[in-house]
Amino acid sequence: MADGTILFALREDPSHQGGEGDQLRRISRAVEGHGLEVRWARTETDARAVLRTEAGLAAAVVAWDLPHGGGGEGAEPGGAAVLRRIGKRFTGLPVLLVMTEEADEDLDRLPLWVAEAVVGYVWPLEDTPAFIAGRIATAAHAYREAVLPPFFKALRRFDEAHEYSWHTPAHAGGVAFLKSPVGRAFFDYFGERLFRSDLSISVEELGSLFGHSGPIGDAERNAARIFGAERTCFVLHGNSTADRMVGHFCVSRDEIALVDRNCHKSVLHGLVLSGARPVYLVPTRNGYGLAGPLPPAGIAAAAVADRIAGNPLAHGALSADAEYAVLTNSTYDGLCYDAVQVARELAASTPRVHFDEAWFAYARFHPLYAGRYGMSVGPDTFPGPQRPTVFSTQSTHKLLAALSQGAMVHVRSSPRAPVEPERFDEAAMMHGTTSPFYPAIASLDVAAGMMDGPQGHWLIDEAVTEAVRFRQAVVRTARRIAAAGDRPEWFFGAWQPETVTDPETGEQYAFADAPAELLRTRPECWQLGPDAAWHGFRGLTEGYCLLDPVKVTLTCPGVDAAGRWQDRGVPARVLTAYLETRSILVEKTDTYSTLVLFSMGITKGKWGTLLDALTDFKALHDARTPLGHVLPGLLRAYPRRYDGMTLDELCQSMHDHLRGSDLVTLLDTAFRQLPRPVVPPQWCYQQLIRSGTERVRIADAADRVAAAMVTVTPPGIPVLMPGETTGAADGPLLRYLRALESFDRAFPGFGSETHGVTVDAATGDYRIECVRPERL
Ligand SMILES: *Cc1c(COP(=O)(O)O)cnc(C)c1O
Repeated sequence: MADGTILFALREDPSHQGGEGDQLRRISRAVEGHGLEVRWARTETDARAVLRTEAGLAAAVVAWDLPHGGGGEGAEPGGAAVLRRIGKRFTGLPVLLVMTEEADEDLDRLPLWVAEAVVGYVWPLEDTPAFIAGRIATAAHAYREAVLPPFFKALRRFDEAHEYSWHTPAHAGGVAFLKSPVGRAFFDYFGERLFRSDLSISVEELGSLFGHSGPIGDAERNAARIFGAERTCFVLHGNSTADRMVGHFCVSRDEIALVDRNCHKSVLHGLVLSGARPVYLVPTRNGYGLAGPLPPAGIAAAAVADRIAGNPLAHGALSADAEYAVLTNSTYDGLCYDAVQVARELAASTPRVHFDEAWFAYARFHPLYAGRYGMSVGPDTFPGPQRPTVFSTQSTHKLLAALSQGAMVHVRSSPRAPVEPERFDEAAMMHGTTSPFYPAIASLDVAAGMMDGPQGHWLIDEAVTEAVRFRQAVVRTARRIAAAGDRPEWFFGAWQPETVTDPETGEQYAFADAPAELLRTRPECWQLGPDAAWHGFRGLTEGYCLLDPVKVTLTCPGVDAAGRWQDRGVPARVLTAYLETRSILVEKTDTYSTLVLFSMGITKGKWGTLLDALTDFKALHDARTPLGHVLPGLLRAYPRRYDGMTLDELCQSMHDHLRGSDLVTLLDTAFRQLPRPVVPPQWCYQQLIRSGTERVRIADAADRVAAAMVTVTPPGIPVLMPGETTGAADGPLLRYLRALESFDRAFPGFGSETHGVTVDAATGDYRIECVRPERL
């Protein structure tokens, strides 16, 4: 592996012997002698391609008079265009500008910004190739060192020092593994470097995670700067731990916490640990069964006060005011809030607001999301004494490039509820480990470093751009199917506005015809208009909520956003079962929609394959293909149930079942009419570990108190929280769970994933954990 790549963007003509061409080739050979690789680009178009694909670039040598190539002519010389590109993609990449002898530009005539963008000039014939190559190599090595973020840099240096370790971990740089065949296989698989960098906290040079000192502390402060936080803590055990940490710090026993019902189970765990009394806030929902945001009216002071007043648990609280509010931003489906407006609304009810941004760590790096993430709430955007302290917890690993479990807590403290670092650290330590995994810390450091400067925007913009292309391609495919007129007209859709308006010109476009530039850059295109039919959520206000383009929800025929049923349907579970046979794994499947993520790892090939699979599914469906061809695994597992069926028959019978049982409406009612809370979550947990609970069949579970959370995935929102009553046998919750149970029985192989429910293998009965009546 070379130590880096040097771009030579020069008009070198291989056939041209002698003079400058020869000299440039000599320089390039001398550069290679320094362990660097040279990539030639002979036009501005070529140079762009290198800049797009070559992240290992360490320096660039660019001719001012580079030709444009590709038939294009620019307003400025090709070299100038390359310099601008470099500035958009890299921070501080050293660039040497090559001046030609013939052209009589002299330095005085170059625009001023050029002098700022380059580190020096090269007149190829004025110095020796060795001298020029030496200058390039020195600049390249300095740059490669300078781009490294603090902790990763220190870790590399430490590794290079090759010290003997006398501390834990006992594998001592991997050596212990070499003493057994099993260990040897493990060592060979991961390679020596992983073990060498798996160090104990007794290595003082690297600093401490608990003390926020040394290179680790520098890395956290660097991340705080990059993510816009006042303070950032690295968390090594997932955002689940970050959520518990913040919950545990913000609220304590018998205090009120305002909790988004669309919350992750780790938020509930925070409530169990703290002993808080939760008052839930209910998100809007649409006809597809997707959860929307908490509506603005639902977080306003009056509505929150009503919720608190109507909650039996809140009556026993220490104070009638909430100490803490937590909400999911963005939601799983990519709905993100105007964070400043949310903070303003909630500030009337609580001094601390926690945005769970497990899926949203990239928000700060693209202007589409300006003002839509927790750390955008500060004295600049929300002046005055009312501003709450804001926490943002992020699963860095979920959508940025970090190792699994890598997460961060970001804080912007307000005088109203100051977060003193040493006190917050007490909570952090309670959920931390005294043996952190250093490669994981390095990955957090690197994930932050990758977002620093223009490259952060560049990386996110690429994902946005590809998502926009895919979304438009889905609509265009549907159009082409309709226009062809030779096959059934249905196709899958992408959940998004049908039309968008250019805010500058007022011009309106059908989504598929809108300029990609407009969709890529203007948040207005993605906002959920209060009355727009495509999203189906009610009670929104202008600009309050935005659909993140990189979270693409594919919709299937069967029901629309308003919940109106169609006669024909293709339930999404059948589609995702088919996609799995094509090695395409989606993120989440709802009843009539499925979610795919466009993360930084997206390529055209990847989404092209998905689109192709969608059209193939349609062809198989319309050709009434036997299930044995489409889902052979399903047929092998359940031959008696599915034998002789075709793909369209399966889709239609499942659709008829879903429509007949009205699962979507039942789900909606179960979410809207929250179960009545009786005891706090912590009390239920005590019963759970002290034989105070039992598993009860759904059929017998009327009017019981749940001891554990019940979450059905999809949509992944809890339907029942510990301490809540199950309600009447024909109430919304039990009817919904029974409908789900009956669906699972009718369609083996397509069962719902239900956390908190055990399913009897023989009978298919659902059971849930309830508090024993005598304990209440
Ligand atoms: C995934 C997730 C978490 C937990 O994150 P991990 O890094 O997997 O522990 C928390 N909140 C939400 C909303 C999530 O989706």
